[in-house]
Amino acid sequence: MSAEQMHFKAEVSRLLDIVVHSLYSDKEIFLRELISNASDACDKLRYEALTQPELLQDDNGFKISVSVDPKARTITISDNGIGMTRDEMIENLGTIARSGTSAFIEQIKDKKADITQIGQFGVGFYSAFMVAQAVEVTSRRAGTAESWSWSSDGRGNFSVDSANKTSRGTDVVVYLRQGEDAFLQEPRLRDIIVRYCDHIAIPIVLNDEDKPANRAGALWLRPKSDITDDQYKEFYHHVAHAFDDAALTLHWRAEGTLEYTSLLFIPSIKPFDLFDPKREHGVKLYVKRTFITDRAEGLVPPWLRFLRGIVDSEDLPLNLSREMLQHNPMLTKIRKGITSRVLSELNKLAAKDPDRYQSIWDNFGAVLKEGLYEDIDHRAALAKLVRCASTESERPVSLADYIGRMKDGQENIFYLCGENIDALRRSPHLEGFKAKGVEVLLLTEPVDDFWPGALDSFEDKKFKSVTSAGDALAKINGAATQEDDKKKEDAKTDDLIALLKRALGDAVKDVRVSARLTSSPVCLAADEGDLDMHLERFLKQHNQIRTASKRVLEINPSHPLIVRLAERARKEGAADSLKDTAWLLLDQAKLLEGDAPSDPMAFSERLAAVLAKALDA
Ligand code: ADP
Ligand code: MG
Repeated sequence: MSAEQMHFKAEVSRLLDIVVHSLYSDKEIFLRELISNASDACDKLRYEALTQPELLQDDNGFKISVSVDPKARTITISDNGIGMTRDEMIENLGTIARSGTSAFIEQIKDKKADITQIGQFGVGFYSAFMVAQAVEVTSRRAGTAESWSWSSDGRGNFSVDSANKTSRGTDVVVYLRQGEDAFLQEPRLRDIIVRYCDHIAIPIVLNDEDKPANRAGALWLRPKSDITDDQYKEFYHHVAHAFDDAALTLHWRAEGTLEYTSLLFIPSIKPFDLFDPKREHGVKLYVKRTFITDRAEGLVPPWLRFLRGIVDSEDLPLNLSREMLQHNPMLTKIRKGITSRVLSELNKLAAKDPDRYQSIWDNFGAVLKEGLYEDIDHRAALAKLVRCASTESERPVSLADYIGRMKDGQENIFYLCGENIDALRRSPHLEGFKAKGVEVLLLTEPVDDFWPGALDSFEDKKFKSVTSAGDALAKINGAATQEDDKKKEDAKTDDLIALLKRALGDAVKDVRVSARLTSSPVCLAADEGDLDMHLERFLKQHNQIRTASKRVLEINPSHPLIVRLAERARKEGAADSLKDTAWLLLDQAKLLEGDAPSDPMAFSERLAAVLAKALDA
């Protein structure tokens, strides 16, 4: 049978192009990637053999070997792990399975994304082409008799052929390009293995030596004092398929009713699939040093899905199937333990190093906030971690900071939701709050519509959206208050209010004098107890509700326009002449809210009429 030629999927070709031409300055990491894959393959077989011991036959000593042939100018990385069938080879080495990868590659092409982030997509195997003119993979799946070889020069095609491999596992032969001969030197290879692969739990043997080149013990079982920063860093790269430096490394051993060791990392960059609906986490589960799964549902709450690393349990049974894991009470306890620990470490970091904490919050705050409404048990600890933009501070503030700055008579934590921070800062809803120096939190992420309601209060102060907070604001004493009250009386707006109500009828819930406006003439507000206006818009967009609640039109009695309208309204026959003006005021308030006028055609006609009249006058 002759070799079959196949094409790489388009995104693989593009990826290869990036890898070969511009990806890393450190070409040597190709070796780490291939050894990392060999180690994963051994882990997978070790797990499958728990229930199918016959897969191991008489070979249960897992091993990775790296050997050099200076004449042929090749490096071969071999493992006796799980191996691949023909189909698996085509699938795993010819496509990019991970979600988001193709989109990411498109963005790199358009120069919209940072190339150094590509590590998170498992470019792994393809990194061999940074140094190789050709790569040949020969593999035999454990438990099968056939073997296959896959080869490619990394330029669009690969070929697959039958092979004669006598033992299970995979050999990857890297044919070095001209100019890459340095990788044939044994000291260089040893150096790379020690630097990047010391933490790999499987012995790595160089050129058939007796002694492995790495320490080959599970890194997480060593005492912390024995582990260097570089070793933690390399372990993170391996376990998370990442290239950045972790923003936080947590390594601890839990003892007591349950024993487990955790080595967890918070990445310093936001993964592309953070908001993927599947929301899988990146923490691998081991039981007594044996890798079980990287998909242990329930090991980590969804709102900590950005965590990477491992948890190694002493108590879970080894022969547990992945399905049985799901509702295992021990796993639930481990999850609680991990969650509490991560939250308390984050709180400590926030106190000790606010800048570093802030960078973690910037990346993952939106995910952590999901926990505020999903996870009652951890709500209190999470609330302390919250940081928000604010009207009174350049830096994001904590809820405790906010409460510390509250004004006399203030009983609420005020917030305003919207899409865009600049628009929020200019919102008419804030005018009265600014005038009284009352701080308002400015919230711009989709999850912000939900958590203040779920959290309800912090240190007994209830959250309140400023869109329905006119009364609460009126109760707060501030410099502007007395002056305001006087103006309100002077304006004598009763007739105007009656007129507006009659003209607008059902289109508004009420018309009132505003306690919050200082410079805009009008705004729309939610009535006490009605849905927050931004939340309501969100729910409507997502078809969660059909009809919107009616709003209150608030008028600013100190605005010159309102003062003059109030005068006019007191006169005979004003109702007819001010009808169009009433609708213009309402539509203006809607525009300020980011909504469209209810009848754009009528709006345009009224505006034109008013402008024409102004020109005549
Ligand atoms: P990742 O390791 O992030 O999954 P890679 O590009 O490094 O991505 O590898 C792609 C896939 O190829 C792996 O997920 C695995 O299924 C398969 N693979 C690579 N090397 C080996 C190997 N030595 N043994 C078995 N499978 C392998
Ligand atoms: Mg890999």
